[in-house]
Amino acid sequence: MNAHSRPADPKKLIKGATGDWEIVIGLEIHAQVTSNAKLFSGASTEFGGEPNAHVSLVDAAMPGMLPVINEECVRQAVRTGLGLNAAINHRSVFDRKNYFYPDLPQGYQISQYKHPIVGEGEIAVDLSPTEQISVGIERLHLEQDAGKSMHDQHPTMSFVDLNRSGVALMEIVSKPDLRSADEAKAYVSKLRTILRYIGSCDGDMEKGNLRADVNVSVRRPGEPFGTRCEIKNVNSIRFIGQAVEVEARRQIGILEDGGKIDQETRLYDPGKGETRSMRSKEEAHDYRYFPDPDLLPLEFDDAFVDDLKQHLPELPDAKKARFIADYGLSPYDASVLVAERDQADYFEAVAKGRDGKAAANWVINELFGRLNKEGKDVSTSPVSAAQLGGLVDLIGEGVISGKIAKDLFEILWTEGGDPRELVETRGMKQVTDTGAIEKAVDEIIAANPDKVEQVKAKPTMLGWFVGQAMKASGGKANPQALNDILKAKLGI
Ligand code: ADP
Ligand code: MG
Repeated sequence: MNAHSRPADPKKLIKGATGDWEIVIGLEIHAQVTSNAKLFSGASTEFGGEPNAHVSLVDAAMPGMLPVINEECVRQAVRTGLGLNAAINHRSVFDRKNYFYPDLPQGYQISQYKHPIVGEGEIAVDLSPTEQISVGIERLHLEQDAGKSMHDQHPTMSFVDLNRSGVALMEIVSKPDLRSADEAKAYVSKLRTILRYIGSCDGDMEKGNLRADVNVSVRRPGEPFGTRCEIKNVNSIRFIGQAVEVEARRQIGILEDGGKIDQETRLYDPGKGETRSMRSKEEAHDYRYFPDPDLLPLEFDDAFVDDLKQHLPELPDAKKARFIADYGLSPYDASVLVAERDQADYFEAVAKGRDGKAAANWVINELFGRLNKEGKDVSTSPVSAAQLGGLVDLIGEGVISGKIAKDLFEILWTEGGDPRELVETRGMKQVTDTGAIEKAVDEIIAANPDKVEQVKAKPTMLGWFVGQAMKASGGKANPQALNDILKAKLGI
């Protein structure tokens, strides 16, 4: 269901002193485009270079320099638009957004205003493994990033680093469809997953490659939208949630005291847990937008878009549905696996031709659990998908029990090796030889006549016998065979 028509969810309302309030949120996400060169120059986009090491004459706005569009950035924007189920505009226009700032040598930012490259779209946002909402996308446009002023390098001077100046950003604007901090967080997390699948932005929020302007207003349920404030440049999903909560409560406080909200640009201070006013909201006309005379309108044809569409990877929603259908996974397991593309690929390499549920269980519980504990991820996993697949095979064939498999996993993790060979050479094979199991069971029965009496009245005592026999076999007795033999011998 589209969020515009969603009735207010009572669970998500905020209780004020004078009644309930609903939060309304729209997000503007700035996502750095994955490309080697900048949007209008050949300078490198590499992160972490010496200040001003990646600055061309265009990025430094030297007189007479002309911007030339980087086609790779255009492709990335179109691919992203397709991933957002959005309208692709075959003609778009670059405008100058004029303002002065020391980190903006041109005196304007080249952006897209009236005619963005991507129009309206929609994504499914997961609130839980089984609950999705649809969130509208207003537009996606391409623009240049600014440089960075540095005020902490010298006691009396400020410096500027233009490495980032001119790097391509996609600004992705949502409709005001989100209704709680959790929904806003889930939206950003889903958008980030989609961008990472497509490979158009690495989503690294710590490096500032994905950051959000968070627009928040409050209203009485069913009333028209209230006046919003925009919280600039929030750089973690957790902070986005906190900023929404804090800002909504601030606005409710003002409204309940009979005040009104001024449309403002604000900053979130995570240390203090408050938002602070930066400036009153600027209007579009303040920027004197006009088409950049140095750039022609950007035009491409259907064939360009179709080709990109054909080469898009399978996206998370489709992958999740396929994992549920093909491997019999629960929605929860499928959600965990598709959150990152390399995790999903790893799982699929383990699961292909095997029991999907068993594979999911080993990948999620044993492997991810261990990777997490040791601060690794699948790309640095000591256990390969082939090795884990081999382990799952050995369980499936009844060669090892689930318990022995954990020991085998430990060996694979610390020493490596071929699972089947390890099971042979280290004597880890499950004992299915009923003669050997019977012998162990007979000995335990003979040594514990009192327990044999008890188990007849209390069949749950069987567990004790299983435990003893397992111990005697070094954990290698086939559990099913052991159970059958015990029941027969004890006559229960
Ligand atoms: P601007 O260009 O001035 O930033 P837009 O109309 O493009 O304004 O909106 C920017 C963002 O603000 C969008 O993500 C939109 O969903 C959101 N937004 C608009 N109105 C509201 C509102 N009343 N409450 C919360 N968010 C809003
Ligand atoms: Mg804005």
